[in-house]
Amino acid sequence: MAAVKAEASELAAPWVAALEALLADAPRPLPLHAPQFDAAEERLVADCVSTAWVSSVGAYVGEFADQLALTCGVNHAVPCINGTAALHMCCHLLGVAPGDEVLLPTLTFVATANAVVHAGAIPHLVESEPARLSIDVDKLDEHLAACAKRTEAGLINRHTGRRIAALIVVHIFGHPADMDRLRDLADRWGIALIEDAAEALGSTYKDRPAGSLADAAALSFNGNKIITTGSGGAILCQDATLAARATHLTTTAKVAERYEFVHDEVGYNYRLSNLHAALGVAQLGKLPQFVADKRLLAARYTDALGAIDGGSVLQEPADSASNYWLNAVVLDEDSADARDAILDRTNDLGILTRPLWRPMHLLPMYADNPRMSDLSVAESLYRRVINLPSSPALLQQLAPAGRQHD
Ligand SMILES: *Cc1c(COP(=O)(O)O)cnc(C)c1O
Repeated sequence: MAAVKAEASELAAPWVAALEALLADAPRPLPLHAPQFDAAEERLVADCVSTAWVSSVGAYVGEFADQLALTCGVNHAVPCINGTAALHMCCHLLGVAPGDEVLLPTLTFVATANAVVHAGAIPHLVESEPARLSIDVDKLDEHLAACAKRTEAGLINRHTGRRIAALIVVHIFGHPADMDRLRDLADRWGIALIEDAAEALGSTYKDRPAGSLADAAALSFNGNKIITTGSGGAILCQDATLAARATHLTTTAKVAERYEFVHDEVGYNYRLSNLHAALGVAQLGKLPQFVADKRLLAARYTDALGAIDGGSVLQEPADSASNYWLNAVVLDEDSADARDAILDRTNDLGILTRPLWRPMHLLPMYADNPRMSDLSVAESLYRRVINLPSSPALLQQLAPAGRQHD
């Protein structure tokens, strides 16, 4: 036991030393991701307060929606209360019904699976691949060939008898999934395709923006995302009918009437407030700078850590330009023991590194869900990935290039 421990701390030592050197001038504690505000945010939020347009009506919601649609290359963006609600609405809009199954990677933030359950459906958990940390397209294809059949009622899971209605793809840490192959898979099996683009605002895949690559997409503007509204999200789509339905559903399904409160179905109070949207308008204006800074930060991490044995800094796929929302070290299989030693040492030093999310099938509420039998790559990645502090402002706080090599 003692020998194993010594080995883990030996493997961890060069990673910790290199991070300490690179981050020597950065403040402690150094968070994983902190928002960056200046006078622009203050001005727009103060405008909401001084005009009393803080809530569900106000000009910033529409302005934010229009700017988001432009940024993401879609016809429509519908702001809403958070990314989980946006995913829930995407499921609803694309016809996911209670009792359906929805395919999604077991390796994701829990909100992806929770949103499916909020829609009354059942997450069906899928294996990952190591290059993009995303869905393994070939293995999912094989899995569907073995367990599903196409019928007039849709794609049916032969084991459960339930309909498989949709596939949710997650762009992990901002690195786009292989959307052309996933689109092809979804079309061949006759299921809807949803992008969980919560982490990928500002990323592109084959020069097309994340969020424009499926039937509908969800964004998040939580406090730790590349831009934040405090709490917020958006539904993105190309189709005007879907967008109108998203607006209706997220605003309590209220019918336009002069005085009366008339609602024509069970809607949701998922609208984004004007106050949140004001913050969003100011933040979105800085997105190009945030992406540029985060890409430079990724290059600095790669430069500082790239020569260390036993792992590598995760790089964007060759066909994509990532926003590098979170930087990540991926340890080699035989160095996986170093993960906890690196996490312990860096957190002791006030460098708030974090492990990857525990895969969904290892959480109690999703342990018995339908799944691919082999999820070993997802489990292996979970044991080997460490996220590094990645705030855009950190770029200006790094040790001068070259000094960390002295
Ligand atoms: C942040 C995030 C969400 C959820 O967004 P919230 O705004 O926190 O509800 C969903 N999926 C992924 C992959 C995320 O990172």
